[in-house]
Amino acid sequence: MSDDTPSPMMVQYLGIRAANPGALLFYRMGDFYEMFFEDAVAAAAALDIALTKRGTHAGAPIPMCGVPVHAAESYLLTLIRKGFRVAIAEQIEDPAEAKKRGSRSVVARDVVRLVTPGTLTEESLLEARRHNFLAAFAEVRGEGALAWADISTGALRVMPCPLVRLAPELARLAPRELLVCAGARLDDVAAEAGAALTELAPGSFDSAAGARRLAAIYAVETLDGFGSFERPELAAMGAIADYLLLTQKGRMPRLAPPAREAAGGAMQIDAATRRNLELTQALSGGREGSLLAAIDRTVTAAGARLLERRISAPSRDLAVIHARQEAVAHLLADPRLAADLRAALARAPDMDRALSRLALDRGGPRDLGAIRAGLEAATAVAALLGEDAVTVLADAATALSGHEVLIDMLDALVAEPPLLARDGGFVASGHDPDLDDTRRLRDEGRGVIAGMQAEYADETGIPALKIKHNNVLGYFIETTATHAARMLAPPLSARFIHRQTTANAVRFTTVALSELETRILNARDRALEIERGIFARLTAAVLGASGPIGQAARALAEVDVAAAFADLASGEGWSRPQVDDSRAFVIEGGRHPVVERALKRKAEAFVANDCALTTGETPAIWLLTGPNMAGKSTFLRQNALIAILAQAGGYVPARRAHVGLVSQLFSRVGAADDLARGRSTFMVEMVETAAILNQADAAALVILDEIGRGTATWDGLSIAWAVLEHLHASNRCRALFATHYHEMTSLSARLPGVENATVAVREWKGDVIFLHEVRKGAADRSYGVQVARLAGLPAAVVDRAREILAALEKGGREGGARPAALIDDLPLFRAAPPAPPTPVARPSAVEARLEGVQPDGLTPREALDLLYELKGLT
Ligand code: ADP
Repeated sequence: MSDDTPSPMMVQYLGIRAANPGALLFYRMGDFYEMFFEDAVAAAAALDIALTKRGTHAGAPIPMCGVPVHAAESYLLTLIRKGFRVAIAEQIEDPAEAKKRGSRSVVARDVVRLVTPGTLTEESLLEARRHNFLAAFAEVRGEGALAWADISTGALRVMPCPLVRLAPELARLAPRELLVCAGARLDDVAAEAGAALTELAPGSFDSAAGARRLAAIYAVETLDGFGSFERPELAAMGAIADYLLLTQKGRMPRLAPPAREAAGGAMQIDAATRRNLELTQALSGGREGSLLAAIDRTVTAAGARLLERRISAPSRDLAVIHARQEAVAHLLADPRLAADLRAALARAPDMDRALSRLALDRGGPRDLGAIRAGLEAATAVAALLGEDAVTVLADAATALSGHEVLIDMLDALVAEPPLLARDGGFVASGHDPDLDDTRRLRDEGRGVIAGMQAEYADETGIPALKIKHNNVLGYFIETTATHAARMLAPPLSARFIHRQTTANAVRFTTVALSELETRILNARDRALEIERGIFARLTAAVLGASGPIGQAARALAEVDVAAAFADLASGEGWSRPQVDDSRAFVIEGGRHPVVERALKRKAEAFVANDCALTTGETPAIWLLTGPNMAGKSTFLRQNALIAILAQAGGYVPARRAHVGLVSQLFSRVGAADDLARGRSTFMVEMVETAAILNQADAAALVILDEIGRGTATWDGLSIAWAVLEHLHASNRCRALFATHYHEMTSLSARLPGVENATVAVREWKGDVIFLHEVRKGAADRSYGVQVARLAGLPAAVVDRAREILAALEKGGREGGARPAALIDDLPLFRAAPPAPPTPVARPSAVEARLEGVQPDGLTPREALDLLYELKGLT
């Protein structure tokens, strides 16, 4: 790389660089991927690796860094996590070819793949128990659609999606990457959903071109056979297809036929509600502490992913819910069967992901082995399920059977096949006679070499003589320098041909050794060739059966989820909820699975609570009062979670539950400042409340916790009051409303659908004891001062608060006096110099005496004497 004329390699580099904007370029040089210029600077910082220089370009040194090819995946992972995309440029010809063209010609290279967050397939880059969705949002003449694919499993889904529904749908799917048309201005929406945003040119979103692209991928004349899709849907799916072709450089991953997700098929849960209820992620980030983590008893990665989908999108289809419940019930009734199934399932590897790697030509023998083990597990599971299983399980059993031919074929593999096909050694012996013969030849050659070494040692009289192998010389004879002289002189020199002298060894070869080496090498190459042929054949057979294999994988996940729910139900004492199209919401002995789990670790018991929101045609709202820390939020959330679990098709943490289908679930639970978006707690609270009041229909379930807390008392109370009235009169939905405004309890007398409930506490010697019991009726007081005391507020402050409270309560009872006037009467709030410190009582004689006592330094005798002395002072 010289100053004036760039080297041919630099010319090539800059060409590839210019053709792949927006991505770091990994440029393959020997055993390294090298990065240059700004790429090198950015990557060195992101990966914390050394930044060096190599040559100059336009008079300035070229920054460079590199990562070894064999360790590239872990570096890729870091870069992808940090929001980079990476273009991988490989050598696409044999270096020998380049040499033939002349000494200055460079090996041809090109980008073979663009690695982006939504297009990962490598085991090490993926989280096994989570989906890796690539989503695309398209709008055609004001109509929107959302499509999403998981290229690591081949699923492709689409649904109509107006722009206003985009955020909640993304919250449900949590895609890693969102494709939008350039200029769509959806950065905020993508960021909120935690997805990397990728803008594509409008051409990628052309619906007619999209339809053609999809038809080509599925090799069909028209897509009508998969259902009729609207233009925006075709545009969104077409964009995904285009992006996959772009990033995979023309190699298309396996994609299952597109399926439309019915818009009304799932319970609607918006992003705030998902976050608040910690469905799949805890507020602190991460899975631990979420509902999913508390209930996940699946034993396969695909099962875990299916469970996540179920929890993220509980069904609204009674038939679907009942069929799933029935499967759980069936397994619950037969614990032996359930245990056997789980044991068989646990042996099933991730077939979906293995299949997609094979389809992208990134697979290896281990992936074929995974398919074999998966299909074997499928056969075992089908046999266990038998003929008389209930619907969901019977359907699964059908999809799980009939793979014997493929399993037989795959039995060509050794028990634990290696990751890569490159080095061979994955075809079992006894499978291909030709391969067995060639291998014998190769291995015998090795045996002959051992014999040859003994023979030469004998002949030369050098016992330390060795025959070794390296990649440069191949096989050679080696002796130490001290013995070499004898071999370099006649008569031995006639047979032993000198090859190399190193610091402490001299190396030779013989005609016989070279001949043998050629024979061994030939046999090895031939064996490899046969194995590669077998690999290609097996891969083709597997890909040819990708449809049925995909169905079997799905069926395994289905059985896994049913068995996991059964295990949970029997282990935790959960029950089968009655789900119907009524407006009931009646829970007996309900529990919060996450809180209960946390308490169990501390050996504390969770107090089960009832909830009954049925009042026929009138709305059913519970107004819940009670002091802070009593358990109001927990109660609210547990009921929302029970609704979700019931409609996910699982059992629920309650003694008995009757859930009328919930169409939408909303929750406004304790807000955190959304500083990133410049909104105060109160603003966030009001935005979320507005969304609820504007959207909730009569079949919705609404959970509101402490509305109005973020503003001044009277403001807050008025807002809470008006919100409750609106829910009652307009939304007419089921709701649980927790508040610390006791004034609101009087509403129950005026509104027929509102009932008071309270979380009981007991007062004992001025302290509160939390009973965590929810009862009908209103809390008599708020105990805020007592709770403040428990929290360790200084005693002086607590006492002062009691005084103020008494004054305020007195004013309230006597009526008329406005709080402002009352407050004026209290010295604390006067605009005067700071109130003198509350006088601290002078220490008593006993206290004064005790001040200087060091109990550790006292003997028992002295302590007793002190006690008498103190007694005398009182
Ligand atoms: P609030 O919303 O009334 O301030 P929380 O719902 O946050 O109260 O509950 C406070 C704490 O009380 C929880 O962290 C939990 O440990 C405990 N708790 C709540 N409900 C129960 C219950 N039903 N049984 C046992 N402990 C509970």
